[in-house]
Amino acid sequence: MTRTVYVNGQYLPEHEATVSIFDRGFLMSDGVYEVTSVLDGKLIDFEGHCVRLARSLSELEMAAPCSNETLLEIHRELVRLNDITDGMIYLQVTRGNPGDRDFVFPAEDTPPTLVLFTQSKPGLADSPVAKVGWKVISVPDVRWGRRDIKTTQLLYPSMAKMMAKKAGADDAWLVEDGMVTEGTSNNAYIVKGKRIITRALSSDILHGITRAAVLRFAAEAQFEVEERNFTIAEAQDADEAFITSATAFVMPVVEIDGAALGTGKPGSVTARMRELYLDEMRKAAI
Ligand code: PLP
Repeated sequence: MTRTVYVNGQYLPEHEATVSIFDRGFLMSDGVYEVTSVLDGKLIDFEGHCVRLARSLSELEMAAPCSNETLLEIHRELVRLNDITDGMIYLQVTRGNPGDRDFVFPAEDTPPTLVLFTQSKPGLADSPVAKVGWKVISVPDVRWGRRDIKTTQLLYPSMAKMMAKKAGADDAWLVEDGMVTEGTSNNAYIVKGKRIITRALSSDILHGITRAAVLRFAAEAQFEVEERNFTIAEAQDADEAFITSATAFVMPVVEIDGAALGTGKPGSVTARMRELYLDEMRKAAI
């Protein structure tokens, strides 16, 4: 089945969809994005993605391409047209095509570019990797200073992912001033007893919508939540570790820079948080 994608008001077969070479997204990475999971044909935390998208756009003084109601319609239509049961929907908004290359932002009435496409991932929530856990390595965090904006500037996270793969690991934890910021495309946590520790929100990290939900469910389940910095050494000495993202949900981390954590197997707090997150988010899916 040929995938149907969405570009600027049109649903098209993927090979017919085009964006100009003058698009600011292509020339300047002048764009923001969201990735929404689909489970059982329904959207997970759609509202959370809309709220963050609006914030990313406003921080960059970029116009919203359409209303949230229209975005919801497009998401649902792509799920329907592509017959997605489990998977994800990628959305990108750029500052559009001013017809030439210039560092100056284009005129405000330049229409933004809006692109969405689906990725089918049957059994997304039953990933066998979640039973084994990830190995991570640490690498320096050399990204720009506004990581709270979900921009399409993903070259360094992609390079860090490749460093991890070359080292036989699954992901990299980024370290700045001796402290873990986050994973290449996820937020990072350690667990000590019944205490879940993760870096506090600031412009140093992306404000994960999975993070927000997981911390809420953790508090409701009587886990203690501590929002503070931690080092790789503290993480290696923790009982458990995990990451969160909209598409990996809650994923155990069992090894950091070659050192096994605890038993070297996914821990019980992590397993409980994954189960809680998936149960609650499936119930609230739209
Ligand atoms: N941190 C970074 C750098 C990310 O790229 C992502 C997701 O892409 C996250 C954290 C997790 O955010 P969310 O839970 O909203 O997917």
